[in-house]
Amino acid sequence: MAEPVYLGVDIGGTKVAAGLVTAKGRILTQARAPMNSRGSAAEGLAAVLAAAGAATAGRRPAAAGISSPGPLDPRRGVVLNPPNLPCWRNFRLAAAAGRKLGVPVKVDNDANAAALAEARWGAGRGYGAVFYATLGTGVGAGLVLDGRIYHGRTGAAVEGGHVSVDWRGVRCACGKRGCIEALAAGPALAKRARALARREPAKARKLIEAAGGRVTGITGEAVGAAWRAGDAVAEEALRQTAEWYAIWLGNMVDVLEPEVIIFGGGMGALFAAWFPHIRKHMAAWTINRRAGEIPLRLARYGAEAGIAGAAALCLP
Ligand SMILES: [Zn+2]
Repeated sequence: MAEPVYLGVDIGGTKVAAGLVTAKGRILTQARAPMNSRGSAAEGLAAVLAAAGAATAGRRPAAAGISSPGPLDPRRGVVLNPPNLPCWRNFRLAAAAGRKLGVPVKVDNDANAAALAEARWGAGRGYGAVFYATLGTGVGAGLVLDGRIYHGRTGAAVEGGHVSVDWRGVRCACGKRGCIEALAAGPALAKRARALARREPAKARKLIEAAGGRVTGITGEAVGAAWRAGDAVAEEALRQTAEWYAIWLGNMVDVLEPEVIIFGGGMGALFAAWFPHIRKHMAAWTINRRAGEIPLRLARYGAEAGIAGAAALCLP
């Protein structure tokens, strides 16, 4: 009998990506369809089915998983009211997709799903308590305990990106102040670098160059590129941002004491390059005297974390 394959569907604000994934986490196929997140609920579902159809290409998966921006109810497979997906309000995504695909469908939020893929197949394999953080335009987090996503009472647990590390800090899009997302995600890194570059433009020559010649054009990606090229201001912006992550992870270690901490997402590799600095500063932000023993690792899955994560939801 052929090895079972699982369909993983990754929903974003502008596109849906889908792929067939083996029970060992290998991605066999990938396809995409455009997503109109501001259209009707039916149009949103049609985008999911289009990507799924292209990815399966006639092969029948044993089950399907869908990774979606939250908030959602993973137990009932209902997408509640994600700000980035106005097309779906209290939408029964698992039931609707399951009817069309003819297989059982599981739904979870993108960070939880990616955390599960890392725990089952990636950098967290072999560890019982896996804390995963996805760093990009936002900060997401997931906790996997003995191979199961920790959901909390209603499925809203481990919104790690909205843990505040500075009650007087900048206001986050969620309304709270000083969330790690508001202080250390891509846009915050870019803002910090822009302020530093304005103060010392001579030192930021490579950074400004990487941003197309204008300080206002500096993005998180430009900071990463300029730092790799040896720019002093990019380095300073990253150092300061890494220190926020150190405070945050110190808190996470005190609450969870995970067996491994994994960085993924579009900026995961950039901040993983700062693990030694993060580890050094983390010691001051945890009372756990053995925190230094916890491995800090880069995720196995990069851009395909959503597909792998969604497929991982199907595992027994
Ligand atoms: Zn927040």
